[in-house]
Amino acid sequence: MTELELRDLRKTYSARGRPSVDAVRGIDLTLRSGELLGLLGPSGCGKSTTLRMIAGLETVTGGDILVDGSSVIARPAQQRNIGVAFENYALYPPLTVAENLAFGLKARRRAERGDVDHKVKEIAERVDLTAILDARPAGLSSGQKQRVSLARALIREPDVLLLDEPLSHLDAAQRDTTRRELKRIQKDLGHTTILVTHDQEEALSLADRIAVMKDGVIQQLGTPYEIYDSP
Ligand code: ADP
Ligand code: ADP
Repeated sequence: MTELELRDLRKTYSARGRPSVDAVRGIDLTLRSGELLGLLGPSGCGKSTTLRMIAGLETVTGGDILVDGSSVIARPAQQRNIGVAFENYALYPPLTVAENLAFGLKARRRAERGDVDHKVKEIAERVDLTAILDARPAGLSSGQKQRVSLARALIREPDVLLLDEPLSHLDAAQRDTTRRELKRIQKDLGHTTILVTHDQEEALSLADRIAVMKDGVIQQLGTPYEIYDSP
């Protein structure tokens, strides 16, 4: 059970010879344990930057990130126990789907061999990857890659799950199935989750609360009912 807290979180990108960009300008947010927060907002408003800072893939310019009350900003990504499924967070091309899934577990030295095989099978069944476990990423459709990314994030049983448009490349039927499965997994395992989405239906069906970001800040925060019913 894990609480995630962002305190005045900030990110300014500065590169020599270019104007600096205030991508995230002070986010305060507390996710209670097991909560799924939908993060919405126009392209460029700072959603991905926020997720990358939480995951440890981007340095923090200011503020703090607390997991169960402890600051994690000094910890490298591998020591944060945060599962990510990002579009540009690539699968390893030389490895099969099964090996890609197993890799995350082995890297953390958490599991025995038989246990790894069992977990790979279990998660593959949940997100419909059984038929392509021996395939390599290059041969997969973007929807299949997306499901592998999701499985890779879930298999580590992370405390916190960060999903950036996890269903965007799936067709309508698969999106339905995967959404339902995601909901079940999240209920079963109780991950504290942030899900970036443009899809209102996805947000409505999955999120406990919705945060709407604009220009690097959270403009609105509430239940899906409050957000979508407000004038
Ligand atoms: P979103 O995920 O909501 O589309 P991003 O977090 O990707 O937004 O981007 C927020 C802002 O930060 C945008 O103006 C974007 O161009 C800028 N940005 C993102 N990544 C970088 C980077 N590595 N260097 C400079 N600017 C960046
Ligand atoms: P997304 O919608 O996935 O956030 P972006 O276009 O914002 O897509 O970012 C894609 C990649 O390009 C990211 O790795 C981000 O860090 C980088 N990026 C985005 N904007 C800039 C920028 N202005 N300067 C440099 N890198 C950027």
